[in-house]
Amino acid sequence: MNFDPKKYKIYTWKSGVMLHWIINPGLAINELILGQRIPKVSLEDKTVDKPRVERSYVPCPHCKTLHDSRTWSTQNGTGFKNWFGLYCPDCGEVIPCLMNAFTFIILAVTFPLWGWFRGILRKVWLDKQAQRFEQLGFESVYNPFAGSGWVKQGLIWAAFMYVLMTLIFPLLTNDPITQKDVLVGVPIWLVGGLIFGYFLKRFMDKKGDSAVT
Ligand SMILES: [Zn+2]
Repeated sequence: MNFDPKKYKIYTWKSGVMLHWIINPGLAINELILGQRIPKVSLEDKTVDKPRVERSYVPCPHCKTLHDSRTWSTQNGTGFKNWFGLYCPDCGEVIPCLMNAFTFIILAVTFPLWGWFRGILRKVWLDKQAQRFEQLGFESVYNPFAGSGWVKQGLIWAAFMYVLMTLIFPLLTNDPITQKDVLVGVPIWLVGGLIFGYFLKRFMDKKGDSAVT
């Protein structure tokens, strides 16, 4: 599909945010457990003076429909459980998605366990999709990163990553947890969390070219 580059900014795996989705090991959890997925191609209307979430679109390569990106959102109860990709409510096909590198490795290693059932699992999943997308709403979504919300969101993320990387990860790999790791991890994740929160605030609030940003 071709898109007007004057009207749309086109995001693919080469864009910074998408690359982050691929290389951040923590996001494999979002993909594998929560079923949160990012489409291979998404568009941002550069000409509209609205927050990013209200001017983002996902094209379906099967039926060429340009979907509002909020078609798959927590607001509509469709942001998760998208293990096989983003279901297109217009044509019933599945929109291809990016895959986190660690998800890929985990899936490849465990393939003998689930590979046999892939077709059945996909069918069971696909059969459930149409009804999930029957009633979609696109009113403005509350942005938890707006105002000073990014501090709270950043700290929640930092706490989650701290526990995961400092405590749970060493347990899984059988590495000793040292006092130094426990202490050093606090400032690292604190700063990391605040950067993450602020980055997302800027990202989600960002308006189109017609606005001063
Ligand atoms: Zn479609």
